[in-house]
Amino acid sequence: MNDSIDLNEFHWLLAVVQSIDVGVVVLDRDYRVQVWNTFMENRSGVQPKDAHNQLIFSLFPEIDRQWFSRKVESVATLGTPAFTVWEQRPYLVRFENYQPITGNEEFMYQNTTLLPLRSPDNNIKHICLVIYDVTDVATNRHQLQAANAQLQQLSSTDRLTGLYNRGHWEESLRAAYARHQRYGNALSLVMLDIDHFKRVNDTYGHQAGDKVIEQVARLLREHARDSDVVGRYGGEEFGVVLSDTDSTGAQTFAERMRHSVEALEVVYNDQRIRFTISLGVADLNQPSNSHADLIAWADQALYTSKKTGRNRVTVYEQV
Ligand code: GH3
Ligand code: MG
Ligand code: MG
Repeated sequence: MNDSIDLNEFHWLLAVVQSIDVGVVVLDRDYRVQVWNTFMENRSGVQPKDAHNQLIFSLFPEIDRQWFSRKVESVATLGTPAFTVWEQRPYLVRFENYQPITGNEEFMYQNTTLLPLRSPDNNIKHICLVIYDVTDVATNRHQLQAANAQLQQLSSTDRLTGLYNRGHWEESLRAAYARHQRYGNALSLVMLDIDHFKRVNDTYGHQAGDKVIEQVARLLREHARDSDVVGRYGGEEFGVVLSDTDSTGAQTFAERMRHSVEALEVVYNDQRIRFTISLGVADLNQPSNSHADLIAWADQALYTSKKTGRNRVTVYEQV
């Protein structure tokens, strides 16, 4: 083969290494920089002549020395490449992220390949680091995760009140019921419904009605414990799952709710709206087949409250 062609090819290779949008660094076995391409120069601000023969650890103090040398030694000993991915370690060397589109990430996410470089005598005296900018990938993943979390949130909560919607609330009740079945801890349920709510809508308008619903939800949140699960069961009907609570405790909670609604005045467009709620309470101190029994019992008790004059609490009793 002709020497001048070899030299040409070498120059081409060099031009490629210089111009690709990937970091290329060659280290000797003492971790000193031998090659430093344009990508590295641009991102670090260190010129090749200043990087040359410098320890990689002094150029990038953020590199975990113990981890990195173990990796390099195994590449040199086994003669096989090694990889690091951003999911495990966001970057090898910290570069600021100044891509305009992905500007919401602070630094450049990187995947890195470590390649063993064989000398003509077949010994591995150098290691090549190839650093890929994968900030776009990381950004997309992060945005997707955020969107999923938001969707999850939306699909489990009610828009008007921010409480759990019926589906999610019932799932929580089902889970609480399963815990009760397994561990025998107390569990009770309070169902409540706003009295003569149609009248509120008719007298003050639907938006005023919405505000009333919101205010009941706020009071429920205020009175419930962290371990209670509050949900919007229907239009102006709510359910509260009270774990480790029997019907006596649930009745206390229900009465407190009834009182604070009675005392509440919702102001809408200078109109003062007063209203009451009816409540039904049930617990699991009698045999049951499923969580649906608890709902049926509390609902029956609620119905009794309505029938017997409204603005009251009824505890379900088996007949
Ligand atoms: P009762 O004391 O027997 O409960 O009488 P009520 O008037 O409250 O009767 P009912 O529970 O049947 O009426 C519920 C009404 O609530 C009917 C429906 O138009 C209204 N409603 C349901 N969802 C909403 C909502 O999101 N906003 C508003 N403003 N009204 C709603
Ligand atoms: Mg009602
Ligand atoms: Mg109703």
